[in-house]
Amino acid sequence: MSGSVPPSPSTFLEKSETYWREGHDLSAFRVLSIAAQPRRRLAKNFRMVYAKSWTLKKHFEGSPTHGNFELKTVELPPLNNGEVLLEALFLTVDPYMRVAAKRLKEGDTMMGQQVARVVESKNSAFPTGTMVVASSGWTTHSISDGKDLEKLPAEWPDTLPVSLALGTVGMTGLTAYFGLLDICGVKGGETVMVNAAAGAVGSAVGQIAKLKGCKVVGAAGSDEKVAYLKKLGYDVAFNYKTVESLEETLKKASPDGYDCYFDNVGGEFSNIVIPQMKKFGRIAICGAISVYNTTRPLPPGPPPENIIYQQLRMEGFIVTRWQGDVRQKALKDLLTWVLEGKIQYREYITEGFENMPAAFMGMLKGENLGKTIVKA
Ligand code: NDP
Repeated sequence: MSGSVPPSPSTFLEKSETYWREGHDLSAFRVLSIAAQPRRRLAKNFRMVYAKSWTLKKHFEGSPTHGNFELKTVELPPLNNGEVLLEALFLTVDPYMRVAAKRLKEGDTMMGQQVARVVESKNSAFPTGTMVVASSGWTTHSISDGKDLEKLPAEWPDTLPVSLALGTVGMTGLTAYFGLLDICGVKGGETVMVNAAAGAVGSAVGQIAKLKGCKVVGAAGSDEKVAYLKKLGYDVAFNYKTVESLEETLKKASPDGYDCYFDNVGGEFSNIVIPQMKKFGRIAICGAISVYNTTRPLPPGPPPENIIYQQLRMEGFIVTRWQGDVRQKALKDLLTWVLEGKIQYREYITEGFENMPAAFMGMLKGENLGKTIVKA
């Protein structure tokens, strides 16, 4: 009997077929061979779900290459009570992954957040269809017990891309927010310097600083990025790759120096900015992308006498420091600013889960303008 009655299709399978007709990648599902399978086997395998995951095949040495990654496919087990099955819609690639991958074992799945949809649920807090931010890594499908999931805010409007929950209204927006407002403690009327200024964090830093009444100077790596910064309202923007002298450019941009330096780049760049800090200047060490791929000894740090005599405060930080109410308020502020048009966003979207390594490597080289996102 079981061999003669086709099973009624699950929502999951129906959705897969619809996606296929619409031209989406179906490869995470074993559906192509279904017609050829005996029906009994089809019924038995009905809920089989295959997750594709990008793993770290070999630890990075210098700049990542395709050889560092391996795509693996694994069958996911059926859900236990309390669990949900997630399907990735948008995934993020971020510079920190270049550094954090050192802590992985070869063969582990690359870490990272994604915006995912609950496609099957045995957890009443996350019914099917719920949109969440999950830290599932570079994977198309995953199972969660819900503890690590964050729902998109209830007030998230339909008109706003959900992928912003990975960027301006998510991790990178929060990094800009806390780095500038808490670590730098920026005040209206001050002058702020930010590098990697057209990227995910940098573009939010400059705009929040403008919102707070600051003068903002931004450095980016192409003329297109510089034009974007001017559109965002940066007072001075320049291409650090083509200026004759970074030191002179910074002096000209703010002859009195800088109150706050939001540092995404580190290395030699910082050694040129730091001597131009004003007395009691504050420096937020957010990232050091200029040295993440370095295989040579790191450049020496900034001259100590600048830090001592200018009485500067330098502080490193990780965005996860801020949790609970303070984080929720920041997300609400960011969402409000975006909806009111006070903060603009750009996303640099790569289509196709199979292109995650390429998107990651391209972002490290500066191909992106705005937040780098992969659409699964
Ligand atoms: P971006 O979107 O800014 O992308 C990275 C950018 O870095 C590239 O587009 C490129 O822009 C720039 N870049 C690459 N190599 C160099 C170099 N040698 N010198 C100068 N710029 C370079 O990334 P994010 O906004 O996500 O991250 C920005 C920084 O913030 C990173 O250092 C990251 O590690 C850090 N970060 C820290 C967090 C924290 O909690 N502390 C959280 C999130 C990010 P260009 O064309 O302008 O060179």
